Amino acid sequence: MKLTIGHLYPELLNLYGDRGNIITLQKRAQWRNIEVEIKEFKLSDKINFADLDIVFLGGGSDKEQLLVSKKLSKIKSSLSGYVADDGVIMAVCGGFQILGHYYKQKGELIDGLGILDIFTESENNRLIGNVIIKTELFSRPIVGFENHGGRTYLGSCPPLGKVICGYGNNGKDGMEGAIYKNVIGTYLHGPLLPKNPHLCDYILQKALERKYPGATLSPLDDAIEIAANEYIVNRFA
Ligand code: GLN
Repeated sequence: MKLTIGHLYPELLNLYGDRGNIITLQKRAQWRNIEVEIKEFKLSDKINFADLDIVFLGGGSDKEQLLVSKKLSKIKSSLSGYVADDGVIMAVCGGFQILGHYYKQKGELIDGLGILDIFTESENNRLIGNVIIKTELFSRPIVGFENHGGRTYLGSCPPLGKVICGYGNNGKDGMEGAIYKNVIGTYLHGPLLPKNPHLCDYILQKALERKYPGATLSPLDDAIEIAANEYIVNRFA
């Protein structure tokens, strides 16, 4: 079996070790003898989403985010088609905001892709710190680190989880991230996946069963990863 991960625009969107998420996806698949190909795309590259099993969009500063927004708006229909076809996307912070209807910054409205029913408005002070969220997907919490000026508000799509510690999407409603079909958006950096093997495997499993119906992931010894997760929970929750 083989999974292809498309890393979109890493030269623009790669804050706070987001690339570590790609390495974690790759390693946890390889440890199960699943071949992994990572395709890194530059803004000038053509993307054939039919070739991809997981799309990763990381975080970036507002300037870089604007460039990526403009580019993605041109290929919006193929990305929307990939999502409609149950394609898997993990989008972090700036990448998460881009998937929404818009990002409003200093009065300027930057159109998003409208793939997630969310919108984001930037404020002057940043929401920074460790985060712990509880989701309906797992018994184990998800832990991470956030640093964003944007406040995201959810429309019809449910959050990835509810905030136990930290600010989450906007610091007001106790929601963190968003989930729609096989798209996961979140503010959590870190990188996120090394200390959340359950979330990493959720993403791998979704990609695997879409490509190879009935395929399942064999278990791994996650003692170290779980210890890292629990350390954060015990320290901050
Ligand atoms: N536009 C984002 C913000 O709200 C970018 C931050 C990020 O991706 N870390 O600040």
